[in-house]
Amino acid sequence: MSETNSNEGIRVRFAPSPTGYLHIGGARTALFNYLYARRHGGTFVLRVEDTDRERSTPEAVQAIFEGMRYLGLDWDEGPEKGGDYGPYFQSERDSIYDELVESLLAKGKAYPCFCTRERLDELRASQMEAKTRVGYDRLCRDLDPEEVKRRQEAGEPYVIRFKVEEGTVRIPDLIRGEVKFKNEEIDDFIIRRADGTCVYNLAVVGDDSGMKITHVIRGEDHLTNTAKQVLLFEALDLPVPKYAHIPLIFGPKRQKLSKRHGAVSVTEYDEKGYLPEAMLNFLARMGWSFDDKEEIFSHDDLIEKFSLESISKSGAMYDVKKLEHLGSHWMRLRPTEEVLEMVLPRLVARSYLTEEQAQQDRERLFHRVELEKERRSTLEEICDNIAFYFCAIEELEPKALKSLKKQEGIAELLSKFASKIESVFGESDLQARIKAVENALTAFLEEEDVSLKQLAPGIRAVLTGRPNTPPLFDLIALMDQAPCLQRLSSADQWLSES
Ligand code: GLU
Repeated sequence: MSETNSNEGIRVRFAPSPTGYLHIGGARTALFNYLYARRHGGTFVLRVEDTDRERSTPEAVQAIFEGMRYLGLDWDEGPEKGGDYGPYFQSERDSIYDELVESLLAKGKAYPCFCTRERLDELRASQMEAKTRVGYDRLCRDLDPEEVKRRQEAGEPYVIRFKVEEGTVRIPDLIRGEVKFKNEEIDDFIIRRADGTCVYNLAVVGDDSGMKITHVIRGEDHLTNTAKQVLLFEALDLPVPKYAHIPLIFGPKRQKLSKRHGAVSVTEYDEKGYLPEAMLNFLARMGWSFDDKEEIFSHDDLIEKFSLESISKSGAMYDVKKLEHLGSHWMRLRPTEEVLEMVLPRLVARSYLTEEQAQQDRERLFHRVELEKERRSTLEEICDNIAFYFCAIEELEPKALKSLKKQEGIAELLSKFASKIESVFGESDLQARIKAVENALTAFLEEEDVSLKQLAPGIRAVLTGRPNTPPLFDLIALMDQAPCLQRLSSADQWLSES
């Protein structure tokens, strides 16, 4: 099956229901639609499916927009952008759906059903007991039109059901080939509720057709909906779009993805400070691959290389290790100046420093960030790992404590060293200060006749609380004088504590 038809402009859509946050699966669907549109010079539409009025909230709508903005998934038409095929909120399109229902009724392809909840519950219970197929028994399908009129006029509540005829639904799917469903497996499903509101499947058909959507790319959990939607398109004599059902995302042991496997809301990844390019790369690789070797894809690579045909049919795995790997890969590639810009508001939010201090101390902040960004996968990790420059050390990591204890007389030695480096803080130029630390340390080692190997672990431990730190000269030069000297002079507290 060919992906495109050169005679028509590609129009795809992302159609989230604003009933919660934008989750990983939704973000991936949005990305695949976005990539397909960009790859083919098409249009990417955002449509908010708020037919479930009770569960849809304005906060969830905002969360979706924020998630999309974080990932840079710019929509061409939709809320905030406008377009020729709006409105882009389903809640504002009732009249369009009503027309479709009326047209199906007029064609005899839909019918009013007066069955009560109690009747349907009893029916279901008896079918389950008899172990026969559970579904609507079509009691109201062939009611006499006079009776229908009488009951409607008497104010009896009713829904509208779609009449599923005999046959087979064929779904043109670009990932799985043609998918077939026997019509007998599909109930005469409801298209309009008793309160007059239309259901999702009818609304989607009205919207996909009204918005001239050419390709519907969404999770394979929608396949049974697709079968119903294709029946509706056909009954309404509307062109059926092409479909691409993408595999679901599983946890590491092929179980359903849940909160346990890490944050599933996109906003949480933003809060943790994964760079958008890392997230895009990660999302794209869940289900899509270019070849078996390549793992790293930039935004532009993805646009150039993306195709629906190379999406796998089997499930996609959520692998947090891969995310961390991609996180640090893309962090390394970001210029430090940009990482600093993103880190600063986080440091201010943590009350490590004020905005004013941040502006005055940029050079040191730049170097502090630069030395960390090489080995961290998120902005929050960078913040955590430079926290020691701003905050007192609460405890030493066990390895750091162990190495401190190992060296005899270390507390005294570190105190002495503190007095020797006091003067380096007078040096305002950072490079000169780093050099001055080096000179002071070399002289100190000679004077005391100890090796760097004996002294360095202790310095690292008391200054940062950790066994691994930035290079020693930089580390000292990048610290404020008072905490640096104070921490070097009070190694005792750690040794006596344990
Ligand atoms: N609103 C549906 C959902 O959030 C998506 C429907 C569709 O893509 O057609 O699952």
